[in-house]
Amino acid sequence: MNATTALVGMSIEEMERWAEENGQPAYRGRQLYQWIYRRGAVDFSEMTNLPKAWRQELSKTASLSVLKVAAERVSPDGTTKYLMELQDGEQIESVLIPDGSRLTLCVSSQVGCGQKCSFCATALLGLRRNMTAGEILGQALEASRRVGRDSLTNMVFMGMGEPLANYKNLMTALRVLSHPEGFALGARKITVSTSGLAPAIRRFAREKLKAGLALSLNATTDETRNDLIPSNRRYTIANVLAACLEWIKASKRRLTIEYAMIRDVNDTAEDAYRLRQLLRDIPSKVNLIPFNPIPGSSYVRPRASSVLKFQRIMLDGGIGATVRKTKGQDIEAACGQLRASTEGSTQKRARSRREKKGYASAGR
Ligand code: SAH
Repeated sequence: MNATTALVGMSIEEMERWAEENGQPAYRGRQLYQWIYRRGAVDFSEMTNLPKAWRQELSKTASLSVLKVAAERVSPDGTTKYLMELQDGEQIESVLIPDGSRLTLCVSSQVGCGQKCSFCATALLGLRRNMTAGEILGQALEASRRVGRDSLTNMVFMGMGEPLANYKNLMTALRVLSHPEGFALGARKITVSTSGLAPAIRRFAREKLKAGLALSLNATTDETRNDLIPSNRRYTIANVLAACLEWIKASKRRLTIEYAMIRDVNDTAEDAYRLRQLLRDIPSKVNLIPFNPIPGSSYVRPRASSVLKFQRIMLDGGIGATVRKTKGQDIEAACGQLRASTEGSTQKRARSRREKKGYASAGR
């Protein structure tokens, strides 16, 4: 792990160039790319169509892993939370969510988050750093090594961090994930979720990429949204929705509106009618997420009756609305609950923290 080159995170062009720099023809880089992302190789010795001498050299000069699963917790509902340890000792979480025939991996894009949303556990960490493209991809590789590459059907960037605040690395990761010789998950199966960074949404709209977009709206007035999502002071609801409309026009896809419902804050019938009004000319569907309690917060989960009433008002207005089933709450894997301990970094401290949080040791 000392002076080795991390291959996970490289685009196909970068891998071809890297092969050439190492005295190989470019197509060897392409083969390497396929082995790493498409076939999920864990060792260079598996790469049987590469020259043996080069494989031996690679095993000394390059590495196939940028993170490791330090622990995993499985909820009775099948949701699995992975605690992943990065090479500098930082920790992030990824969640695997089974739902009927779907198996969705929810990935993190930053260590911590800088958006300071008042209802979200990750915000309590602050932004520690951006994750590299390799670390973003590593989550998909590690999870698929455990469940089988073909079982994974969808990916959402709804874990720790604000993906659009780590734009460049997000885009590199998205290209590899959707590349047919890469991870080969169709871009349509991938959804990027944002707290609403309008300029980055506009930029995302200009990319030739078919990934989905979800906006965490969470409020229907700027006054309430300012309290929940501080970036709203810069990018107001009207401004953010205008940016999303650009994305809808460019991608020809429907926007997903996420709406975390908090009792007496944003869960009233008036809110539902206002949301209907806001979305009148915006092709979208709404996903209602009953607030999941987080440590130290005074926010309360909405009554089931308010959630159903809210949903009914949306449906009556002709707007598709679903209620997100709360999964993995018992293992703190539900929306907004991700908060890997990231302070300190020694193995021992990580282990004792893990035991405290009830993680099973993943062994090695
Ligand atoms: N930064 C991105 C992605 C991470 S949050 C974003 O803001 O979209 C993923 C989703 O979880 C968001 O829709 C957010 O509103 C929601 N969420 C955060 N904390 C929550 C909580 N405690 N209960 C319910 N949903 C929450």
